Amino acid sequence: MTTTPATIELETVLIVDDDPILSAIADVFFQKRGVKKVYCAVNGREALTILDDVDGQIDFVLCDLNMPELDGIQFLRHLKDRQFCGQIAILSGEQQSVVRTAENLAQAHNLCVVGTLGKPLKLNDLEALMGRLAPCEGPSAAPSPVLATVADLRQALGRGEVVPHYQPKVDIKTGKISGAEALARWTHPKLGVIGPNFFIPMAEQNDMIGALTECMIEATIADMVEWRDQEVTPKVSVNLGADTLSQIEFPDQMAGRLAAAGIECAKLVFEITERQLVSKSTVSSEVLARLRLMGFGISIDDFGTGYSNIEQLREFPFTELKIDQSFVRSAAQDQFAHASVEASVSLGKQLGLRLVAEGVETAEELDYVTAAGIDEVQGYHIGRPMPADEFAGWVLDYEGRTRKMGTVDERLRASARV
Ligand code: C2E
Ligand code: CA
Ligand code: CA
Repeated sequence: MTTTPATIELETVLIVDDDPILSAIADVFFQKRGVKKVYCAVNGREALTILDDVDGQIDFVLCDLNMPELDGIQFLRHLKDRQFCGQIAILSGEQQSVVRTAENLAQAHNLCVVGTLGKPLKLNDLEALMGRLAPCEGPSAAPSPVLATVADLRQALGRGEVVPHYQPKVDIKTGKISGAEALARWTHPKLGVIGPNFFIPMAEQNDMIGALTECMIEATIADMVEWRDQEVTPKVSVNLGADTLSQIEFPDQMAGRLAAAGIECAKLVFEITERQLVSKSTVSSEVLARLRLMGFGISIDDFGTGYSNIEQLREFPFTELKIDQSFVRSAAQDQFAHASVEASVSLGKQLGLRLVAEGVETAEELDYVTAAGIDEVQGYHIGRPMPADEFAGWVLDYEGRTRKMGTVDERLRASARV
């Protein structure tokens, strides 16, 4: 069923920590996991020497913050100067606010930070973090220069190689499937499935995001029509590029297409990130207001990661608020993330919005968001994004297996076994 790899194989790891015992424990951990070469450095300076010796070829760095000579914060800046493209986890016994600042700084440096770990190091936490490693975002993580041509993407769009994969969403109260998110995948004939973090920025920078959104909407409607024959009729959420909101004719076009397909407007939800709404325009307000009047759902995506979200909630007619996965992931350990989830839930409830938590990966995260008062969940714990035909099969299977279950919890736990 899984189509997107959740983990990557690590060949080389660099541990940067002045505590020799911790380094030795982590070294054994990585070796047992089949890492071919583990390097250990006692401070940032030694780590940079190793990095230069191997020409930057390190897949994963586990980095302490407080170290003699060259500390973790300085080390991160040197990684930026070297355009390091491996993944990084910050390991520290410092206060959460210090660790979070370091993490933000690394992100601002365009480094790929996959998480933070406290001290003393718990191997379970390290194991969980390893399970989350994935190809990182950003230009440094481009899968291969062979793919990097704009012309390839243009051709792929023309040939219908960019298609939606669907990730299920489940209603916490009823345990039933409440919908799915359509996520773009480039099914390259030679290179297999390529994720959107690689080609969405390329499409945005080269005037192709409109065409991509169009491909996604067209394919989504076609898939919904196809599923209907099997009585699979979920709501589907599509991510809109910023471009679309400036097309004044978009609402009428959409309403016409759904009418032609015999699908209610309420079955389609448009997800919009805060970033796309920062440059307010009257056109986008009109487009969103009219979509809403026609009955489409409108979701504010990645909530909490932008700058002006509260203002935007007032300005635009949202029906749903999606709490960003970075908060869901760290809410149990991180006070700030916890406070963000609580504040978002309270705000969303007061404004009458459906609250969705994305990126729910574990039973603990599910328990957390359930207790926090979230309405719907989406994440690997429920199901991964899947091609259209596989998704229909998944829905039928889920409904079949969970129909007789008494409690919501049982249903959700059953879904997690898929
Ligand atoms: P997003 O809209 O925030 O979508 C959620 C992302 O989180 C998806 O990544 C999904 O596969 C991933 N995800 C879901 N559950 C989990 C989980 O439990 N753990 C983890 N670690 N990740 C999870 P994906 O498919 O790689 O998409 C990345 C981003 O690309 C999306 O983030 C969205 O911003 C953008 N994108 C995807 N499809 C489209 C599209 O058709 N149009 C536009 N404009 N952007 C798109
Ligand atoms: Ca989304
Ligand atoms: Ca997100």
